[in-house]
Amino acid sequence: MRMDRESPMFTAKCRTVREDAGFRLTFFCEVCGSGYVTPPLICGTPKEALRLGGQDARLHFNRCCGCRRWVCDEHFNENQMMCTDCMPRICARCGAPVPKGADLCTVCGAPQFEAEKDEER
Ligand SMILES: [Zn+2]
Ligand SMILES: [Zn+2]
Ligand SMILES: [Zn+2]
Repeated sequence: MRMDRESPMFTAKCRTVREDAGFRLTFFCEVCGSGYVTPPLICGTPKEALRLGGQDARLHFNRCCGCRRWVCDEHFNENQMMCTDCMPRICARCGAPVPKGADLCTVCGAPQFEAEKDEER
């Protein structure tokens, strides 16, 4: 089997719970420890559950290209492709911390993201 470099193995910390209907997995952000719970996974083995659950959960997690941990959207600096431990979201102009999803620095008002095409009004 060939390794796919574009999509690294999803190796976030996880907990498996067996339920009547199948398995339910909880994956944890390695910065804040908050969990993402998958829908019930109807399958026979924990290994299969991990594969199915991982496909779902990886949409909610991001891998830091610095420390290579899996972190939630909240703790991922998408501009740098790193977790907020490695690369805190800070304003490029004044250095103030910038909250997740903010377009403008709350201190100096500098735009925090590359302007997108649909921004012209
Ligand atoms: Zn987190
Ligand atoms: Zn990191
Ligand atoms: Zn600023």
